[in-house]
Amino acid sequence: MGSSLYDVIIVGAGPVGCYTGYLLAKKGIKVGIIEEHHAVGEDVNCSGIVSIETFDKFEFDRSSIIGDIYTVKLVSPSGKTFRYTTDGCIAYVVDRPRFDLAIASLAMNEGVEFIFNTRTDDIGYEHGGISFLSTSQEIPATYTARIGIIATGYGSGLPKKLGCGNPPDTCFGAQVEITMDGINEVEVYIGNEFAPKSFAWAIPIGGSKAKVGLSVFKNPASYLKKLLNNPYFCDRVKETSFDIKTSALPLGVIPKSHTHNAIIIGEAAGQLKTTTHGGVFYGLLCAEIGAEAVGKALADFDRCAYHLERYEDSWHKLLEEEINTGIYLRQLLAKLGDDQIDFLVELGNKKELAHLIRKFKFDWHSDIIQSSNNLFRVLRFGR
Ligand SMILES: Cc1cc2nc3c(=O)[nH]c(=O)nc-3n(C[C@H](O)[C@H](O)[C@H](O)COP(=O)(O)OP(=O)(O)OC[C@H]3O[C@@H](n4cnc5c(N)ncnc54)[C@H](O)[C@@H]3O)c2cc1C
Repeated sequence: MGSSLYDVIIVGAGPVGCYTGYLLAKKGIKVGIIEEHHAVGEDVNCSGIVSIETFDKFEFDRSSIIGDIYTVKLVSPSGKTFRYTTDGCIAYVVDRPRFDLAIASLAMNEGVEFIFNTRTDDIGYEHGGISFLSTSQEIPATYTARIGIIATGYGSGLPKKLGCGNPPDTCFGAQVEITMDGINEVEVYIGNEFAPKSFAWAIPIGGSKAKVGLSVFKNPASYLKKLLNNPYFCDRVKETSFDIKTSALPLGVIPKSHTHNAIIIGEAAGQLKTTTHGGVFYGLLCAEIGAEAVGKALADFDRCAYHLERYEDSWHKLLEEEINTGIYLRQLLAKLGDDQIDFLVELGNKKELAHLIRKFKFDWHSDIIQSSNNLFRVLRFGR
């Protein structure tokens, strides 16, 4: 059995794991990233919508951008529409594998070692550190580090194995890439007909290609097939067989995201927008907080647990209100009937609501949700 020693092992070479690795390696820390696929960006299920703020804040290379979003059209169950538009670009559509690869290149250039084709589901404690056992290779190997970081996205058993639990709720995203007519703006469909208690989308990705998807609480693939047969889609869709990808999405944060020598980060910790399921920006923000805490923990290892607990406090302070307000919005929307959703979408066109709509920020939703609270109450209770 092989064995390798690192300061930090990160499990998962998604954007969050790679960015955390990059930040740590920049501090001179020896980092290994274990990834089950044979390369970065394989088998990603994502619509690729990433904010302008993400590129500005993290100063990422923009070569993964394949489109600019200027309008978002909301469609209600009975076909009422509201178009959200601003003076400039609202967000970008990126090629997710290319986006992930660009972040991985930053990490590689700083000396992060990638251990591909290696899945780990086992955690042990050796040499006063944390070890990850891989059994997916011909010769099983153990990777030991002083601190472990779980950045596996949602669904691995590692957070539970660390005693950190699971998010309070789960929904499922299903998406397909197709050729279709008349797709030149982002379309969002709200209503029980499309995606009960959630929403569906169609996103242009260049030419007449689109990513069409939805999130629901059960049977994601059958709801997506139903959507593609819906009058809004069936005459526009140019394909008859669909390669649908489904993934679980956390709704809410895990009970605990640190132990005495490990942290959980990114989607694995529930760090994503509970409104739209966007996970890249929040995960990267937490990567910064995590790398800072892990750097301090390594430098002051006797108080490792104290520094890792600060990670948990800091990211909760930054995101908890956003995440909880998003859940609150979902709970309210879930109680609305299709006629109320029709009314809500139509309301968006009223100039009296323009001041409210101007509050919309792509990555931060609690402000506009809290400002709309009275509106939802009137809709729900008629007063
Ligand atoms: C349909 C859909 C559409 C989405 N659209 C958007 C969007 O438009 N914008 C946005 O911001 N977010 C979107 N998201 C969410 C976004 O994709 C995730 O939140 C984001 O990828 C999380 O990044 P991460 O690095 O935490 O995890 P991931 O990107 O999931 O990366 C985790 C990595 O860990 C590896 N791994 C997992 N388990 C193990 C293991 N045991 N051993 C070794 N390796 C392991 C995986 O192979 C993977 O490479 C969408 C999600 C879905 C399902």
